[in-house]
Amino acid sequence: LTASELAAVRADFPLLGRTVRGGKPLVYLDSAATSQKPNVVLEAEVEFYEQRNAAVHRGAHQLAEEATEAFESARAAVASFVGADDGEIVWTPGATAAINLVAYAFSNATAGRGGAAAERFRLEPGDEIVVTEAEHHANLVPWQELCARTGAVLRWFGVGDDGRVDLSDVDSVIGDRTRIVAFGHVSNVTGAVGPVAELVAAARRVGAYTVLDACQSVPHLPVDLPALGVDFAAFSAHKMLGPTGVGVLYARRELLEAMPPVTTGGSMVEVVTMEATTYAPPPQRFEAGTQMVAQAVGMGVAAQWLDELGMARVARHEQELAAELLRITEIPGVRVIGPTDTRDRLAVVSFVVDGVHAHDVSQVLDDRGIAVRVGHHCAQPLHRRFGVAATARASASVYTTVDEITAFREALTGVRAFFGAE
Ligand code: PMP
Repeated sequence: LTASELAAVRADFPLLGRTVRGGKPLVYLDSAATSQKPNVVLEAEVEFYEQRNAAVHRGAHQLAEEATEAFESARAAVASFVGADDGEIVWTPGATAAINLVAYAFSNATAGRGGAAAERFRLEPGDEIVVTEAEHHANLVPWQELCARTGAVLRWFGVGDDGRVDLSDVDSVIGDRTRIVAFGHVSNVTGAVGPVAELVAAARRVGAYTVLDACQSVPHLPVDLPALGVDFAAFSAHKMLGPTGVGVLYARRELLEAMPPVTTGGSMVEVVTMEATTYAPPPQRFEAGTQMVAQAVGMGVAAQWLDELGMARVARHEQELAAELLRITEIPGVRVIGPTDTRDRLAVVSFVVDGVHAHDVSQVLDDRGIAVRVGHHCAQPLHRRFGVAATARASASVYTTVDEITAFREALTGVRAFFGAE
Protein backbone atom coordinates (compact mmCIF):
# COMPACT_ATOMS: atom_id res chain seq x y z
CA LEU A 1 0.00 0.00 0.00
CA THR A 2 1.28 3.45 -0.83
CA ALA A 3 1.26 6.13 1.87
CA SER A 4 -1.81 7.75 0.35
CA GLU A 5 -3.63 4.42 0.02
CA LEU A 6 -2.89 3.64 3.65
CA ALA A 7 -4.07 7.11 4.68
CA ALA A 8 -7.31 6.48 2.78
CA VAL A 9 -7.72 3.10 4.46
CA ARG A 10 -7.22 4.63 7.90
CA ALA A 11 -9.67 7.42 7.19
CA ASP A 12 -12.31 4.71 6.80
CA PHE A 13 -11.90 3.60 10.44
CA PRO A 14 -13.46 6.18 12.77
CA LEU A 15 -12.03 4.63 15.94
CA LEU A 16 -8.44 5.00 14.72
CA GLY A 17 -8.88 8.78 14.90
CA ARG A 18 -9.50 8.88 18.65
CA THR A 19 -7.07 9.71 21.40
CA VAL A 20 -6.52 7.89 24.69
CA ARG A 21 -4.78 8.51 28.06
CA GLY A 22 -5.14 12.25 28.05
CA GLY A 23 -4.91 13.16 24.39
CA LYS A 24 -2.38 10.68 23.06
CA PRO A 25 -3.07 9.34 19.57
CA LEU A 26 -4.21 5.73 19.79
CA VAL A 27 -1.71 3.17 18.52
CA TYR A 28 -3.84 0.06 18.23
CA LEU A 29 -1.66 -3.06 18.15
CA ASP A 30 -4.30 -5.55 19.31
CA SER A 31 -5.93 -6.50 16.04
CA ALA A 32 -5.32 -10.21 16.63
CA ALA A 33 -7.79 -9.98 19.52
CA THR A 34 -10.28 -7.99 17.51
CA SER A 35 -9.94 -5.63 14.58
CA GLN A 36 -11.40 -2.18 14.18
CA LYS A 37 -14.27 -1.67 11.71
CA PRO A 38 -14.47 0.50 8.61
CA ASN A 39 -17.39 2.87 8.04
CA VAL A 40 -18.89 0.66 5.35
CA VAL A 41 -19.37 -2.13 7.91
CA LEU A 42 -20.86 0.19 10.54
CA GLU A 43 -23.13 1.78 7.96
CA ALA A 44 -24.26 -1.60 6.61
CA GLU A 45 -25.47 -2.60 10.07
CA VAL A 46 -27.27 0.67 10.63
CA GLU A 47 -28.77 0.56 7.14
CA PHE A 48 -30.02 -2.94 7.81
CA TYR A 49 -31.79 -1.87 11.01
CA GLU A 50 -33.10 1.36 9.49
CA GLN A 51 -34.38 -0.12 6.25
CA ARG A 52 -34.61 -3.90 6.17
CA ASN A 53 -34.90 -5.29 9.68
CA ALA A 54 -36.98 -8.48 9.68
CA ALA A 55 -36.49 -12.13 10.52
CA VAL A 56 -35.13 -14.08 7.56
CA HIS A 57 -36.55 -17.12 5.74
CA ARG A 58 -39.97 -16.42 7.26
CA GLY A 59 -42.96 -14.38 6.35
CA ALA A 60 -43.95 -13.30 2.89
CA HIS A 61 -43.78 -9.56 3.43
CA GLN A 62 -41.41 -7.31 1.57
CA LEU A 63 -39.11 -6.62 4.52
CA ALA A 64 -38.67 -10.33 5.21
CA GLU A 65 -37.74 -10.82 1.56
CA GLU A 66 -35.25 -7.97 1.63
CA ALA A 67 -33.70 -9.17 4.90
CA THR A 68 -33.39 -12.69 3.51
CA GLU A 69 -31.81 -11.35 0.34
CA ALA A 70 -29.29 -9.29 2.38
CA PHE A 71 -28.50 -12.28 4.62
CA GLU A 72 -27.98 -14.66 1.69
CA SER A 73 -25.93 -12.14 -0.32
CA ALA A 74 -23.67 -11.74 2.70
CA ARG A 75 -23.25 -15.52 2.80
CA ALA A 76 -22.31 -15.47 -0.89
CA ALA A 77 -19.77 -12.66 -0.28
CA VAL A 78 -18.13 -14.53 2.59
CA ALA A 79 -18.17 -17.79 0.63
CA SER A 80 -16.50 -16.22 -2.38
CA PHE A 81 -13.93 -14.53 -0.13
CA VAL A 82 -12.60 -17.98 0.86
CA GLY A 83 -13.22 -19.71 -2.47
CA ALA A 84 -16.25 -21.67 -1.23
CA ASP A 85 -19.82 -22.17 -2.46
CA ASP A 86 -22.69 -20.48 -0.62
CA GLY A 87 -23.99 -23.87 0.50
CA GLU A 88 -20.72 -24.61 2.28
CA ILE A 89 -21.01 -21.66 4.67
CA VAL A 90 -22.94 -21.92 7.95
CA TRP A 91 -23.43 -18.78 10.05
CA THR A 92 -22.36 -19.20 13.64
CA PRO A 93 -21.83 -16.74 16.51
CA GLY A 94 -18.07 -17.00 15.92
CA ALA A 95 -15.18 -19.38 15.40
CA THR A 96 -15.53 -20.91 18.87
CA ALA A 97 -19.15 -21.78 18.15
CA ALA A 98 -18.20 -23.15 14.72
CA ILE A 99 -15.59 -25.55 16.13
CA ASN A 100 -18.00 -26.65 18.85
CA LEU A 101 -20.63 -27.27 16.18
CA VAL A 102 -18.32 -29.74 14.45
CA ALA A 103 -17.36 -31.42 17.72
CA TYR A 104 -21.00 -31.83 18.76
CA ALA A 105 -21.98 -33.13 15.33
CA PHE A 106 -19.44 -35.95 15.79
CA SER A 107 -20.80 -36.49 19.27
CA ASN A 108 -24.40 -36.70 18.11
CA ALA A 109 -23.43 -39.09 15.32
CA THR A 110 -21.64 -41.23 17.91
CA ALA A 111 -24.83 -41.27 19.97
CA GLY A 112 -26.64 -42.70 16.93
CA ARG A 113 -28.30 -39.47 15.80
CA GLY A 114 -28.46 -38.57 12.14
CA GLY A 115 -29.18 -42.01 10.70
CA ALA A 116 -27.08 -43.91 8.21
CA ALA A 117 -25.71 -40.74 6.62
CA ALA A 118 -24.08 -39.71 9.90
CA GLU A 119 -22.40 -43.08 10.51
CA ARG A 120 -19.21 -41.73 8.97
CA PHE A 121 -18.85 -39.33 11.92
CA ARG A 122 -19.25 -42.00 14.59
CA LEU A 123 -16.30 -42.28 16.95
CA GLU A 124 -15.34 -45.46 18.81
CA PRO A 125 -13.47 -45.57 22.12
CA GLY A 126 -9.78 -45.52 21.26
CA ASP A 127 -10.24 -43.51 18.07
CA GLU A 128 -7.84 -40.60 18.00
CA ILE A 129 -8.21 -36.85 17.59
CA VAL A 130 -5.00 -34.99 16.79
CA VAL A 131 -4.29 -31.32 17.55
CA THR A 132 -1.12 -29.27 18.12
CA GLU A 133 0.40 -27.69 21.19
CA ALA A 134 0.06 -24.31 19.49
CA GLU A 135 -3.74 -24.28 19.44
CA HIS A 136 -5.95 -21.54 20.77
CA HIS A 137 -8.16 -23.00 23.53
CA ALA A 138 -11.08 -22.74 21.08
CA ASN A 139 -9.44 -25.45 18.97
CA LEU A 140 -8.38 -27.59 21.90
CA VAL A 141 -11.01 -27.69 24.64
CA PRO A 142 -13.90 -28.73 22.32
CA TRP A 143 -11.80 -31.75 21.25
CA GLN A 144 -10.92 -32.64 24.84
CA GLU A 145 -14.64 -32.54 25.58
CA LEU A 146 -15.48 -34.63 22.50
CA CYS A 147 -12.95 -37.22 23.70
CA ALA A 148 -14.58 -37.23 27.14
CA ARG A 149 -18.01 -37.79 25.58
CA THR A 150 -16.98 -40.56 23.19
CA GLY A 151 -13.94 -42.35 24.62
CA ALA A 152 -11.74 -41.02 21.82
CA VAL A 153 -8.15 -40.16 22.74
CA LEU A 154 -6.48 -36.79 22.21
CA ARG A 155 -2.99 -36.73 20.74
CA TRP A 156 -0.91 -33.77 19.66
CA PHE A 157 2.12 -32.50 17.84
CA GLY A 158 4.57 -30.55 19.98
CA VAL A 159 6.08 -27.19 19.11
CA GLY A 160 9.82 -26.80 18.53
CA ASP A 161 12.05 -24.13 20.06
CA ASP A 162 11.56 -22.13 16.88
CA GLY A 163 7.81 -21.95 17.57
CA ARG A 164 6.94 -24.20 14.63
CA VAL A 165 4.77 -27.30 14.91
CA ASP A 166 7.14 -30.26 15.04
CA LEU A 167 6.07 -32.87 12.49
CA SER A 168 9.12 -35.12 12.82
CA ASP A 169 6.96 -37.95 14.20
CA VAL A 170 4.01 -37.32 11.89
CA ASP A 171 3.55 -40.97 10.95
CA SER A 172 3.38 -42.11 14.55
CA VAL A 173 1.01 -39.34 15.68
CA ILE A 174 -1.34 -39.65 12.68
CA GLY A 175 -2.19 -43.29 12.10
CA ASP A 176 -4.93 -45.84 11.56
CA ARG A 177 -6.94 -44.70 14.58
CA THR A 178 -6.86 -41.00 13.69
CA ARG A 179 -10.34 -39.69 12.83
CA ILE A 180 -9.93 -35.92 13.17
CA VAL A 181 -6.91 -33.65 12.74
CA ALA A 182 -7.61 -30.10 14.01
CA PHE A 183 -5.03 -27.33 13.69
CA GLY A 184 -4.57 -23.61 13.35
CA HIS A 185 -3.66 -21.95 10.08
CA VAL A 186 -1.77 -19.15 11.84
CA SER A 187 -0.92 -19.04 15.55
CA ASN A 188 -2.47 -16.14 17.45
CA VAL A 189 0.61 -16.16 19.70
CA THR A 190 3.64 -16.72 17.46
CA GLY A 191 2.19 -15.63 14.12
CA ALA A 192 3.67 -18.80 12.60
CA VAL A 193 1.89 -20.24 9.59
CA GLY A 194 1.05 -23.86 10.36
CA PRO A 195 2.00 -26.85 8.17
CA VAL A 196 -1.42 -27.09 6.53
CA ALA A 197 -0.40 -29.01 3.39
CA GLU A 198 1.55 -31.63 5.39
CA LEU A 199 -1.26 -32.15 7.90
CA VAL A 200 -3.93 -32.36 5.20
CA ALA A 201 -1.82 -34.91 3.31
CA ALA A 202 -1.19 -36.98 6.45
CA ALA A 203 -4.88 -36.90 7.42
CA ARG A 204 -5.90 -37.96 3.92
CA ARG A 205 -3.52 -40.92 3.97
CA VAL A 206 -5.49 -42.36 6.89
CA GLY A 207 -8.94 -41.08 5.92
CA ALA A 208 -9.22 -38.60 8.82
CA TYR A 209 -11.20 -35.37 8.73
CA THR A 210 -9.36 -32.05 8.91
CA VAL A 211 -10.55 -29.00 10.84
CA LEU A 212 -8.76 -25.71 10.20
CA ASP A 213 -8.86 -22.82 12.66
CA ALA A 214 -8.57 -19.99 10.15
CA CYS A 215 -9.23 -17.12 12.59
CA GLN A 216 -5.80 -15.56 12.17
CA SER A 217 -5.27 -16.29 8.47
CA VAL A 218 -8.46 -15.24 6.69
CA PRO A 219 -8.13 -11.57 7.75
CA HIS A 220 -4.50 -11.33 6.61
CA LEU A 221 -3.77 -13.67 3.69
CA PRO A 222 -5.50 -14.74 0.51
CA VAL A 223 -7.17 -17.99 1.68
CA ASP A 224 -8.86 -20.50 -0.61
CA LEU A 225 -10.30 -23.16 1.68
CA PRO A 226 -11.20 -25.74 -1.01
CA ALA A 227 -7.69 -25.36 -2.47
CA LEU A 228 -6.19 -26.02 0.97
CA GLY A 229 -8.17 -29.24 0.94
CA VAL A 230 -9.51 -29.02 4.48
CA ASP A 231 -12.85 -30.59 5.37
CA PHE A 232 -13.94 -27.97 7.91
CA ALA A 233 -12.76 -24.46 8.75
CA ALA A 234 -13.79 -21.77 11.23
CA PHE A 235 -13.27 -18.02 11.38
CA SER A 236 -14.80 -14.97 13.04
CA ALA A 237 -16.01 -11.71 11.53
CA HIS A 238 -14.70 -9.49 14.31
CA LYS A 239 -11.05 -10.22 13.48
CA MET A 240 -11.58 -9.40 9.78
CA LEU A 241 -13.03 -5.90 10.13
CA GLY A 242 -16.57 -7.20 10.67
CA PRO A 243 -18.93 -7.14 13.66
CA THR A 244 -18.80 -9.26 16.80
CA GLY A 245 -21.37 -12.00 17.27
CA VAL A 246 -20.96 -13.66 13.90
CA GLY A 247 -18.59 -16.11 12.27
CA VAL A 248 -18.55 -18.98 9.91
CA LEU A 249 -18.25 -22.71 9.73
CA TYR A 250 -17.03 -23.80 6.31
CA ALA A 251 -17.53 -27.46 5.48
CA ARG A 252 -17.46 -29.39 2.25
CA ARG A 253 -21.01 -29.68 0.98
CA GLU A 254 -21.24 -33.48 1.18
CA LEU A 255 -20.15 -33.36 4.82
CA LEU A 256 -22.77 -30.78 5.72
CA GLU A 257 -25.36 -32.95 3.95
CA ALA A 258 -24.47 -35.89 6.18
CA MET A 259 -23.98 -34.07 9.49
CA PRO A 260 -26.61 -34.38 12.21
CA PRO A 261 -27.91 -31.09 13.61
CA VAL A 262 -26.53 -29.74 16.85
CA THR A 263 -28.63 -26.80 18.00
CA THR A 264 -32.26 -27.63 17.36
CA GLY A 265 -35.46 -25.59 17.32
CA GLY A 266 -37.11 -23.23 14.89
CA SER A 267 -35.99 -22.53 11.31
CA MET A 268 -33.92 -25.70 10.91
CA VAL A 269 -36.77 -28.16 10.40
CA GLU A 270 -38.92 -29.53 7.63
CA VAL A 271 -41.78 -31.43 9.26
CA VAL A 272 -42.44 -31.41 12.99
CA THR A 273 -45.00 -33.63 14.68
CA MET A 274 -45.36 -34.36 18.36
CA GLU A 275 -43.51 -37.63 17.74
CA ALA A 276 -40.69 -36.68 15.41
CA THR A 277 -38.99 -34.04 13.29
CA THR A 278 -37.28 -33.99 9.93
CA TYR A 279 -34.55 -31.48 9.31
CA ALA A 280 -33.94 -28.89 6.63
CA PRO A 281 -31.02 -29.32 4.26
CA PRO A 282 -27.80 -27.48 5.07
CA PRO A 283 -26.90 -24.76 5.76
CA GLN A 284 -30.31 -24.07 7.41
CA ARG A 285 -30.08 -27.35 9.35
CA PHE A 286 -27.32 -25.75 11.39
CA GLU A 287 -28.92 -22.32 11.79
CA ALA A 288 -31.61 -22.80 14.41
CA GLY A 289 -33.41 -19.80 15.82
CA THR A 290 -33.51 -16.18 14.74
CA GLN A 291 -30.20 -15.36 13.14
CA MET A 292 -27.75 -12.46 13.67
CA VAL A 293 -28.76 -10.89 10.38
CA ALA A 294 -27.30 -7.39 10.78
CA GLN A 295 -23.97 -8.83 11.88
CA ALA A 296 -23.92 -11.28 8.99
CA VAL A 297 -24.60 -8.41 6.60
CA GLY A 298 -21.68 -6.55 8.21
CA MET A 299 -19.42 -9.56 7.76
CA GLY A 300 -20.34 -9.75 4.08
CA VAL A 301 -19.46 -6.09 3.62
CA ALA A 302 -16.15 -6.56 5.48
CA ALA A 303 -15.25 -9.44 3.14
CA GLN A 304 -16.09 -7.31 0.10
CA TRP A 305 -14.09 -4.38 1.47
CA LEU A 306 -11.01 -6.60 1.89
CA ASP A 307 -11.62 -8.21 -1.50
CA GLU A 308 -11.68 -4.81 -3.18
CA LEU A 309 -8.46 -3.77 -1.50
CA GLY A 310 -7.01 -7.13 -2.57
CA MET A 311 -5.77 -9.71 -0.09
CA ALA A 312 -2.44 -10.09 -1.87
CA ARG A 313 -1.77 -6.39 -1.23
CA VAL A 314 -3.00 -6.66 2.35
CA ALA A 315 -0.61 -9.57 2.90
CA ARG A 316 2.33 -7.65 1.39
CA HIS A 317 1.63 -4.61 3.58
CA GLU A 318 1.41 -6.79 6.68
CA GLN A 319 4.63 -8.57 5.74
CA GLU A 320 6.40 -5.25 5.99
CA LEU A 321 4.73 -4.68 9.36
CA ALA A 322 5.84 -8.13 10.56
CA ALA A 323 9.45 -7.26 9.72
CA GLU A 324 9.12 -3.97 11.62
CA LEU A 325 7.58 -5.70 14.63
CA LEU A 326 10.35 -8.31 14.69
CA ARG A 327 12.92 -5.57 15.08
CA ILE A 328 12.06 -5.60 18.79
CA THR A 329 14.55 -8.50 18.95
CA GLU A 330 17.22 -5.78 18.62
CA ILE A 331 16.16 -4.34 21.99
CA PRO A 332 18.29 -5.74 24.85
CA GLY A 333 16.27 -7.97 27.17
CA VAL A 334 13.38 -8.51 24.76
CA ARG A 335 12.72 -12.12 23.76
CA VAL A 336 10.21 -13.08 21.07
CA ILE A 337 8.27 -16.35 21.45
CA GLY A 338 8.28 -18.14 18.10
CA PRO A 339 9.87 -17.50 14.73
CA THR A 340 11.97 -14.35 14.54
CA ASP A 341 12.44 -14.31 10.76
CA THR A 342 9.68 -13.12 8.46
CA ARG A 343 9.41 -16.38 6.53
CA ASP A 344 5.98 -18.02 6.91
CA ARG A 345 4.84 -15.84 9.74
CA LEU A 346 2.43 -12.94 10.07
CA ALA A 347 2.39 -9.64 11.97
CA VAL A 348 1.58 -11.08 15.41
CA VAL A 349 4.52 -10.95 17.83
CA SER A 350 4.43 -12.16 21.44
CA PHE A 351 7.37 -11.33 23.66
CA VAL A 352 8.72 -11.17 27.16
CA VAL A 353 10.95 -8.48 28.63
CA ASP A 354 13.57 -9.87 31.01
CA GLY A 355 12.93 -8.82 34.57
CA VAL A 356 9.61 -7.08 33.85
CA HIS A 357 6.19 -8.66 34.17
CA ALA A 358 4.15 -8.66 30.94
CA HIS A 359 1.37 -6.70 32.64
CA ASP A 360 3.83 -3.98 33.61
CA VAL A 361 5.11 -3.87 30.02
CA SER A 362 1.63 -3.35 28.69
CA GLN A 363 0.90 -0.68 31.28
CA VAL A 364 3.92 1.39 30.28
CA LEU A 365 2.87 1.08 26.65
CA ASP A 366 -0.74 1.93 27.48
CA ASP A 367 0.39 5.11 29.23
CA ARG A 368 1.74 6.19 25.85
CA GLY A 369 -1.46 5.28 24.03
CA ILE A 370 -0.13 1.99 22.69
CA ALA A 371 -2.59 -0.89 23.02
CA VAL A 372 -1.10 -4.39 23.16
CA ARG A 373 -2.55 -7.57 24.61
CA VAL A 374 -1.13 -9.29 27.66
CA GLY A 375 -1.69 -12.73 29.17
CA HIS A 376 -1.72 -16.22 27.72
CA HIS A 377 -3.86 -15.24 24.72
CA CYS A 378 -6.05 -18.35 25.22
CA ALA A 379 -3.04 -20.57 24.53
CA GLN A 380 -1.86 -21.79 27.91
CA PRO A 381 -0.16 -24.99 26.67
CA LEU A 382 1.96 -22.99 24.22
CA HIS A 383 3.00 -20.56 26.96
CA ARG A 384 3.82 -23.48 29.25
CA ARG A 385 5.92 -24.95 26.44
CA PHE A 386 8.06 -21.81 26.48
CA GLY A 387 8.15 -21.66 30.27
CA VAL A 388 6.27 -18.39 30.62
CA ALA A 389 2.91 -17.65 32.24
CA ALA A 390 2.22 -14.55 30.21
CA THR A 391 3.52 -12.60 27.24
CA ALA A 392 2.74 -9.21 25.79
CA ARG A 393 1.55 -9.36 22.19
CA ALA A 394 1.61 -6.73 19.46
CA SER A 395 -0.41 -7.46 16.34
CA ALA A 396 -1.14 -5.52 13.19
CA SER A 397 -3.87 -5.31 10.61
CA VAL A 398 -4.34 -3.70 7.22
CA TYR A 399 -4.67 -0.22 8.76
CA THR A 400 -1.49 -0.42 10.87
CA THR A 401 1.40 1.87 9.89
CA VAL A 402 5.17 1.51 10.14
CA ASP A 403 5.17 4.74 12.19
CA GLU A 404 2.92 3.12 14.79
CA ILE A 405 5.31 0.20 15.10
CA THR A 406 8.25 2.56 15.39
CA ALA A 407 6.45 4.34 18.26
CA PHE A 408 5.87 0.95 19.88
CA ARG A 409 9.53 -0.05 19.54
CA GLU A 410 10.66 3.26 20.99
CA ALA A 411 8.35 2.91 23.97
CA LEU A 412 9.45 -0.68 24.51
CA THR A 413 13.12 0.35 24.45
CA GLY A 414 12.56 2.41 27.61
CA VAL A 415 10.66 -0.25 29.55
CA ARG A 416 13.54 -2.03 31.29
CA ALA A 417 15.17 1.20 32.41
CA PHE A 418 11.79 2.39 33.73
CA PHE A 419 11.55 -0.67 35.97
CA GLY A 420 15.23 -0.59 36.88
CA ALA A 421 15.70 -3.97 35.21
CA GLU A 422 18.80 -2.97 33.29
N1 PMP B 1 -8.71 -19.35 17.20
C1 PMP B 1 -7.79 -18.39 17.16
C2 PMP B 1 -6.46 -18.68 16.57
C3 PMP B 1 -8.10 -17.14 17.68
O1 PMP B 1 -7.17 -16.17 17.66
C4 PMP B 1 -9.38 -16.90 18.24
C5 PMP B 1 -9.74 -15.57 18.85
N2 PMP B 1 -8.79 -15.09 19.79
C6 PMP B 1 -10.30 -17.95 18.24
C7 PMP B 1 -9.94 -19.15 17.71
C8 PMP B 1 -11.68 -17.79 18.81
O2 PMP B 1 -12.42 -16.88 18.08
P1 PMP B 1 -13.76 -16.28 18.69
O3 PMP B 1 -13.40 -15.78 20.05
O4 PMP B 1 -14.09 -15.17 17.76
O5 PMP B 1 -14.77 -17.37 18.70
